[in-house]
Amino acid sequence: MFTPAELLDINTLLTPENKIIILTHYNPDGDAIGSSLGLKHYLGAKGIPTDVIVPNDFPKFLKWMPESKKVIIGEYKRKHAFDLISGADVIFCLDFNSPSRIGLLGEWLSKSKAKKILIDHHQQPENFDFVYSDTVIPATSQMIYHFIEAMEDEKLVNQDVAECLYTGIMTDTGGFRFRSTSATTHRIIAHLIEKGADPSVITSNTWDTNTVSRLHLLALVLGRIEVVNDGKVAVLSLTRNELKEFGFQKGDTEGFVNYGLSIAGVKMAAFFMEDLYDDFIKISFRSKDDVDVNQFSRKYFSGGGHINAAGGKSDESLQDTIETFKKRLEQEEL
Ligand code: 5GP
Ligand code: MN
Repeated sequence: MFTPAELLDINTLLTPENKIIILTHYNPDGDAIGSSLGLKHYLGAKGIPTDVIVPNDFPKFLKWMPESKKVIIGEYKRKHAFDLISGADVIFCLDFNSPSRIGLLGEWLSKSKAKKILIDHHQQPENFDFVYSDTVIPATSQMIYHFIEAMEDEKLVNQDVAECLYTGIMTDTGGFRFRSTSATTHRIIAHLIEKGADPSVITSNTWDTNTVSRLHLLALVLGRIEVVNDGKVAVLSLTRNELKEFGFQKGDTEGFVNYGLSIAGVKMAAFFMEDLYDDFIKISFRSKDDVDVNQFSRKYFSGGGHINAAGGKSDESLQDTIETFKKRLEQEEL
């Protein structure tokens, strides 16, 4: 948590006169949107207006969240996003650890004179004016709750705050399953339910919204999962043509990589996908126990994330990327 002195400083910055914005990472997921909107609703309840800006669009299955329609999408509203970032007094940076994780907004963020407040649970955060970084907490949305507690503002947690934070915690813990899910996580979830977050409604809004294109792509991916390295590593992939053929929509492939990790004996799963428009491969890594995919992705695929969940990219072709990946596995003796 921020120190008491930092909390006092932050408190003096949080006034309706200051222009306050909230930024989160590229390809926003449930925790990115949940923590950002959760913070927005909390500050709103304090009488402080904010704008949430994301680098690019986010999946439809998150667009039921209160005020999700007001999120400013940088790639569609460049000038508006630029003006807000340049003119801001305070910028909350949520669920990312480096300006390089927010695409074109990163350059504007670095140049901005605003006070920058980081709240994030990824490894190796870069420099910000105020840093609350804890890699043991399973979701940035949980950290927003801790921040509200530290500000002694739990009474301001209303139904909107509760729904957003619940969604972020639920999605980043894979439905309260992943390693850092703790008793504290569940205690916070209990408070959020008391404040109006309905588990069945949120689960159904977020996860029972499969598109037909997603299920067709999943069938294709599952049909050709490859298990290598004596059964320890699962490889999944999709080409751009396949994405086009099945009518890919944003978010359709979210969670595919976890199917690889669900195979008994598999310690690491990697999902390789050609980008729909640009010539690069987006990679998702997941792992069990002490297999550190954050380090692996940082070292070989210009990426990063968490020990057991990370992302990266490659400029080689899909086939070459997968070959390179297999060689790196040998190097690391995985
Ligand atoms: P996903 O595989 O779901 O896209 O990402 C898994 C985790 O790794 C998320 O916490 C995400 O923020 C992080 N991540 C994904 N892609 C990248 C990347 O290119 N660079 C870094 N540093 N982190 C990433
Ligand atoms: Mn997160």
